[in-house]
Amino acid sequence: MSEFRSIRVTAIVLRHADWGEADRLVTLYTREQGKLRAIVKGARKITSRKAGHLEPFTHVKLQLSRGRDLFIVTQADTVEAYVALRESLVLTGYASYVVELLDRFVYEEEGANPTLFRLLADTLKRLTDKEDTWLAVRYYEMRLLDFLGFRPQLFECANCGREIKAEDQFFSFSAGGVICPRCGQGLPNLRPISLETLKYLRHFQRSSYGEAARARPGSRVQAEAENLMQGYFTYLLERELNSPGFLKRVRT
Ligand SMILES: [Zn+2]
Repeated sequence: MSEFRSIRVTAIVLRHADWGEADRLVTLYTREQGKLRAIVKGARKITSRKAGHLEPFTHVKLQLSRGRDLFIVTQADTVEAYVALRESLVLTGYASYVVELLDRFVYEEEGANPTLFRLLADTLKRLTDKEDTWLAVRYYEMRLLDFLGFRPQLFECANCGREIKAEDQFFSFSAGGVICPRCGQGLPNLRPISLETLKYLRHFQRSSYGEAARARPGSRVQAEAENLMQGYFTYLLERELNSPGFLKRVRT
């Protein structure tokens, strides 16, 4: 029993909120336990030494003890502060989007996913290093879809299953993939997707970050890919959040 009362985790702070008179509630994505929430006692007092380690995006090592309902942070050490993410509004915006996507799609009971933790840490690092932010965020979105079980189908028509030919296509959020021009005639709520953007997304889906970085898409492809991915995430969030089917799928 006693060995479970205190645990040590490596975590990234997703967000925090005021809690009670002087405390703070932090939402964490930990490498060892997945998502969890913990109380930082006295975090809003000026003298708090833990508070500084627990700003959003910070990569930390924490000692947690199990309270009655929630964990309590008993020790905090910063691994990476990612200071740059707080010094530029643009980078703060990107980093906020990255942690919010994870926060909204991942549930506390799901348990650990060290690969997802690695992806989150790598993405924040890429943003901090001011690498191509468009690339860093799109790569994160594509990998996140894989982990969540929503990997878009880009090689066969998501309606008839036929192989996609080299021509402009449609994309269906509800079918989760590309729809061939023939099926596209009769289906509602489709987005057009150009052959060029489709090729790029296919490459992206099968590539490591280094390989993905070597392709240099033009601004039209960048805008189309970004709109498509954001539309897909918005659709998934609106339809799937809080639904039992979604919970079941993300757990398997
Ligand atoms: Zn088809």
